[in-house]
Amino acid sequence: MTTMSLPPVAKSFYTHCKKCETDRYHTVLAHPTNTTAKIKCEVCAKTSTWKAQSSAAAKKRAATEAAGRSPRARNSHKEQWNTLCGADVKAEEHDYNLKKKFEANTVLKHPKFGRGFIRSTQTDKIEVVFEDEVKMLMHNRS
Ligand SMILES: [Zn+2]
Repeated sequence: MTTMSLPPVAKSFYTHCKKCETDRYHTVLAHPTNTTAKIKCEVCAKTSTWKAQSSAAAKKRAATEAAGRSPRARNSHKEQWNTLCGADVKAEEHDYNLKKKFEANTVLKHPKFGRGFIRSTQTDKIEVVFEDEVKMLMHNRS
Protein backbone atom coordinates (compact mmCIF):
# COMPACT_ATOMS: atom_id res chain seq x y z
CA MET A 1 0.00 0.00 0.00
CA THR A 2 1.31 3.43 -0.93
CA THR A 3 1.83 5.91 1.83
CA MET A 4 0.08 9.16 1.08
CA SER A 5 1.17 12.32 2.77
CA LEU A 6 -1.55 13.85 4.90
CA PRO A 7 -1.72 17.49 5.92
CA PRO A 8 -0.33 17.82 9.47
CA VAL A 9 -2.76 18.09 12.40
CA ALA A 10 -3.48 21.64 13.65
CA LYS A 11 -2.14 23.17 10.44
CA SER A 12 -4.12 24.99 7.79
CA PHE A 13 -4.91 23.05 4.68
CA TYR A 14 -6.31 24.60 1.51
CA THR A 15 -8.99 22.50 -0.17
CA HIS A 16 -12.54 22.55 -1.48
CA CYS A 17 -15.37 23.16 1.02
CA LYS A 18 -18.67 21.62 -0.12
CA LYS A 19 -20.72 24.05 1.97
CA CYS A 20 -18.91 27.19 0.79
CA GLU A 21 -18.71 25.67 -2.72
CA THR A 22 -15.22 27.06 -3.14
CA ASP A 23 -11.64 26.44 -1.96
CA ARG A 24 -11.11 27.40 1.68
CA TYR A 25 -8.50 27.10 4.39
CA HIS A 26 -9.36 24.18 6.65
CA THR A 27 -7.92 23.34 10.06
CA VAL A 28 -6.74 19.74 10.25
CA LEU A 29 -8.33 18.17 13.34
CA ALA A 30 -7.15 14.58 13.27
CA HIS A 31 -6.00 11.66 11.15
CA PRO A 32 -8.65 8.94 11.62
CA THR A 33 -6.81 6.62 9.20
CA ASN A 34 -3.56 6.63 7.22
CA THR A 35 -5.25 8.10 4.18
CA THR A 36 -7.86 10.43 5.67
CA ALA A 37 -7.80 13.65 7.62
CA LYS A 38 -10.66 15.18 9.54
CA ILE A 39 -10.75 18.85 8.57
CA LYS A 40 -12.82 21.89 9.51
CA CYS A 41 -13.56 24.80 7.19
CA GLU A 42 -12.20 28.05 8.67
CA VAL A 43 -15.06 30.05 7.14
CA CYS A 44 -18.26 28.03 7.70
CA ALA A 45 -16.89 25.58 10.33
CA LYS A 46 -18.15 22.54 8.43
CA THR A 47 -16.16 19.43 9.27
CA SER A 48 -15.43 16.90 6.57
CA THR A 49 -13.15 14.01 5.83
CA TRP A 50 -10.40 14.62 3.34
CA LYS A 51 -9.20 11.53 1.52
CA ALA A 52 -5.64 11.51 0.27
CA GLN A 53 -6.44 9.71 -2.97
CA SER A 54 -9.92 10.68 -4.10
CA SER A 55 -9.47 14.34 -3.32
CA ALA A 56 -6.92 14.84 -6.07
CA ALA A 57 -9.35 13.39 -8.59
CA ALA A 58 -12.21 15.46 -7.21
CA LYS A 59 -10.11 18.60 -7.38
CA LYS A 60 -9.14 17.85 -10.97
CA ARG A 61 -12.79 17.29 -11.86
CA ALA A 62 -13.82 20.57 -10.16
CA ALA A 63 -11.09 22.46 -12.02
CA THR A 64 -12.19 21.00 -15.36
CA GLU A 65 -15.79 21.91 -14.65
CA ALA A 66 -14.90 25.46 -13.58
CA ALA A 67 -12.79 25.99 -16.69
CA GLY A 68 -15.48 24.82 -19.06
CA ARG A 69 -18.62 26.00 -17.32
CA SER A 70 -19.30 29.57 -18.37
CA PRO A 71 -18.45 29.51 -22.08
CA ARG A 72 -20.29 26.22 -22.54
CA ALA A 73 -23.36 27.55 -20.71
CA ARG A 74 -23.42 30.63 -22.96
CA ASN A 75 -23.02 28.56 -26.10
CA SER A 76 -25.77 26.17 -25.17
CA HIS A 77 -28.11 29.08 -24.45
CA LYS A 78 -27.37 30.61 -27.86
CA GLU A 79 -27.81 27.23 -29.53
CA GLN A 80 -31.11 26.76 -27.78
CA TRP A 81 -32.25 30.20 -28.84
CA ASN A 82 -31.19 29.54 -32.45
CA THR A 83 -33.10 26.27 -32.49
CA LEU A 84 -36.21 27.80 -30.95
CA CYS A 85 -36.46 31.12 -32.76
CA GLY A 86 -33.29 31.92 -34.69
CA ALA A 87 -33.42 33.56 -38.13
CA ASP A 88 -34.03 30.19 -39.83
CA VAL A 89 -37.11 29.43 -37.78
CA LYS A 90 -40.24 30.15 -39.76
CA ALA A 91 -42.76 31.06 -37.13
CA GLU A 92 -45.33 33.76 -36.74
CA GLU A 93 -43.98 36.61 -34.59
CA HIS A 94 -46.30 38.07 -32.00
CA ASP A 95 -45.59 41.68 -31.06
CA TYR A 96 -45.12 42.04 -27.34
CA ASN A 97 -47.72 44.00 -25.42
CA LEU A 98 -48.33 43.46 -21.75
CA LYS A 99 -52.09 43.63 -22.23
CA LYS A 100 -52.07 40.72 -24.68
CA LYS A 101 -52.34 37.11 -23.60
CA PHE A 102 -49.60 34.90 -25.04
CA GLU A 103 -49.38 31.17 -25.52
CA ALA A 104 -46.42 28.94 -24.67
CA ASN A 105 -44.24 27.62 -27.54
CA THR A 106 -44.79 30.67 -29.73
CA VAL A 107 -42.39 33.33 -30.96
CA LEU A 108 -42.48 36.80 -29.48
CA LYS A 109 -41.06 40.05 -30.85
CA HIS A 110 -40.02 42.50 -28.16
CA PRO A 111 -39.15 46.14 -29.06
CA LYS A 112 -36.09 46.10 -26.78
CA PHE A 113 -34.99 42.45 -26.40
CA GLY A 114 -35.77 41.29 -29.95
CA ARG A 115 -36.98 37.87 -30.96
CA GLY A 116 -37.79 35.46 -28.17
CA PHE A 117 -39.39 32.09 -27.65
CA ILE A 118 -42.13 31.78 -25.03
CA ARG A 119 -41.11 28.70 -23.08
CA SER A 120 -43.90 28.72 -20.52
CA THR A 121 -46.77 30.88 -19.34
CA GLN A 122 -48.48 31.67 -16.06
CA THR A 123 -51.64 33.72 -15.48
CA ASP A 124 -49.81 37.04 -15.67
CA LYS A 125 -46.24 36.10 -16.59
CA ILE A 126 -44.43 34.53 -19.51
CA GLU A 127 -40.96 33.04 -19.54
CA VAL A 128 -39.18 34.07 -22.72
CA VAL A 129 -35.88 32.80 -24.13
CA PHE A 130 -34.19 35.80 -25.72
CA GLU A 131 -30.90 35.69 -27.61
CA ASP A 132 -28.84 36.69 -24.56
CA GLU A 133 -30.91 35.58 -21.60
CA VAL A 134 -34.16 34.16 -20.30
CA LYS A 135 -36.58 36.79 -19.02
CA MET A 136 -39.88 36.82 -17.19
CA LEU A 137 -42.27 39.32 -18.73
CA MET A 138 -45.77 40.37 -17.75
CA HIS A 139 -48.74 39.65 -19.98
CA ASN A 140 -52.52 39.39 -19.83
CA ARG A 141 -52.77 42.70 -17.91
CA SER A 142 -56.05 44.01 -19.20
ZN1 LIG B 1 -16.85 26.29 4.28
